[in-house]
Amino acid sequence: MIISEFRVKKFCNFAALFCENNFDMINITFPDGGVRQFEAGVTPMDIAKSISEGLARNVLSAKVNDKMWDALRPINEDANIQLFTWNDPEGKATVWHSSAHLMAEAIEQLYKGVKFGIGPAIESGFYYDIDTGDMTLTEEDLVKIEKKMLELAKEKQAFERVDVCKADALKYFTEKGDEYKVELINELEDGTITYYKSGTFTDLCRGPHIPDTSCIKAVKLTSIAGAYWRGDENRKQLTRIYGITFPKQKELEEYLVLLEEAKKRDHRKLGRELELFMFTDMVGKGLPMWLPRGTALRNRLQEYLTKIQKHYGYEQVITPHIGNKNLYVTSGHWDHYGKDSFQPITTPEEGEVYLLKPMNCPHHCMIYKWQPRSYKDLPLRLAEFGTVYRYEQSGELHGLTRVRSFTQDDAHIFCRPDQVKDEFLRVMNIIEIIFKALKFENFEAQISLRDPNNTTKYVGTDENWERAEQAIKEACAEKGLPAREETGEAAFYGPKLDFMVKDALGRRWQLGTIQVDYNLPERFDLTYIGKDNEKHRPVMIHRAPFGSMERFVAVLLEHCAGDFPLWLAPDQAIILPISEKYQEYAEKVYETLKNSEVRVLLDDRSEKIGRKIRDAELKKIPYMLIVGEKEEGEGLVSVRKRGTGDLGSMPVAEFAKMVENQVADEQKVEY
Ligand SMILES: [Zn+2]
Ligand SMILES: [Zn+2]
Repeated sequence: MIISEFRVKKFCNFAALFCENNFDMINITFPDGGVRQFEAGVTPMDIAKSISEGLARNVLSAKVNDKMWDALRPINEDANIQLFTWNDPEGKATVWHSSAHLMAEAIEQLYKGVKFGIGPAIESGFYYDIDTGDMTLTEEDLVKIEKKMLELAKEKQAFERVDVCKADALKYFTEKGDEYKVELINELEDGTITYYKSGTFTDLCRGPHIPDTSCIKAVKLTSIAGAYWRGDENRKQLTRIYGITFPKQKELEEYLVLLEEAKKRDHRKLGRELELFMFTDMVGKGLPMWLPRGTALRNRLQEYLTKIQKHYGYEQVITPHIGNKNLYVTSGHWDHYGKDSFQPITTPEEGEVYLLKPMNCPHHCMIYKWQPRSYKDLPLRLAEFGTVYRYEQSGELHGLTRVRSFTQDDAHIFCRPDQVKDEFLRVMNIIEIIFKALKFENFEAQISLRDPNNTTKYVGTDENWERAEQAIKEACAEKGLPAREETGEAAFYGPKLDFMVKDALGRRWQLGTIQVDYNLPERFDLTYIGKDNEKHRPVMIHRAPFGSMERFVAVLLEHCAGDFPLWLAPDQAIILPISEKYQEYAEKVYETLKNSEVRVLLDDRSEKIGRKIRDAELKKIPYMLIVGEKEEGEGLVSVRKRGTGDLGSMPVAEFAKMVENQVADEQKVEY
């Protein structure tokens, strides 16, 4: 049996005649809390029209009682509603997922006999996994498909939602010969299956979709890749086509410029060019190796954070890279992650079992436990640049952002419940100082709270939860930090605060995090003696302002495109003699600067000066020091500042002082 909801979509009142709840009125609640009555069967589009024609023109999809919903799908019960346009991520996702259908339709028309896997929207655009049989699609095919998509989009094809019973769905796709859809349908429950039909294409899909294809005005298919069916390397490899669409050609053009810029800033490319880090399968997948220049850069970041943390009362500790299995059984990590982690290491003689450490917290708990603690000792703040190891599937690995070994700028604060807010404020100060020093001017936060309707799944007392959640909210308000509250997003062991930065290209990255934990103090039976001479449970706070050194350096590289602030730059200056005649003087300058605080290079190749300047620019070195006859005669260097230009000539000592001052200025911290 097939029932189309849309056949009657244009005639809402008429449609209501056929509904059970004939002419029933329903309450529609808007995000601002306002409630209005509509006839049952009303669509989000009708509701948009009742607000304004402009909104109706732009509405793409909706959320109805927390479910994504087509703009043209009738609503038959009281509902909370949210309408989405292109300006909302949900609206974009609806356009992009609909574009995946459009692409599939174009491909089906162009190439007979292709079969389809899945075609979701992604963060930017969409993809579809396709079995092309013996045929291999090329870049030229992509151009053909793009053209076809635009042609079909112009037809203003409507997306029609159709309920279908399992038997009919299986019959349809079996006859079509699409075993992928058949496999998917077999896993669905009868009564929950829907098709979406647009033009000549019918897809198994739960939606939602845009009303029709007319809003798709610009198309770019960005790449082709291989992808195993359902991500399983034992199954067939399909062809994955990525694409993106826009309602305006101009938006596509802007996107392509951004994409080009992002490619230039790819941290994997910059890391290679600037000689910061490397990977090799001989060492292992996802195991980064920091080269000397990258190590020096990372050490500078660590020293900077260490200095700030010292001011805030942190104490450094060092713990081993492995830990006895019992440690992780006690912490609960073994039960939770044991199977999905690197597998245990056993000793050859005693049969002891060890694990590569997936986190530093259990070790730090044992340091806390090492001696009795009194309320006067708290907060105890233990910090460690601790390297941890986590198994990630090889397909998930990506440069420095998804790795199997990484170093957290970790710390654990053990405090009394009444100290949580103050500790949050202090950590937020540290994060703010760091983001500012690295020119992340645009950041926001997310507070993850527990679900108040389902409190049983959380550990810790209600009183402590309420207190901690309140403390986090108050701390954000006091700092004037814009923070989004997400109910139900907290971990089972405590609420948390995450920091998101926007980089120079407007991309959002999650970096620092502060997390309250009521679980580990319980599991490790951590206590302190209170004023009342009784034993109490401390609160534990995990925090990492950078997140991890690897991820942070990756984000920083992409943010500044390799143009680090002077205090971090691997090389701060390069000496460029105009010709070999001035080699000796150049070496003298080099020696002088080497003995100062300046990180300096000497380009003593017998290349033309123009070439040397170009190469130094590629290396993004902040200062070029050009030396020739005049400079040698007067004991000077001619200074060119990257991004600024000629600063004139000056004595070597003056240049060194200038660099020193600039570095001090950039690193200055106002507590
Ligand atoms: Zn769909
Ligand atoms: Zn931790």
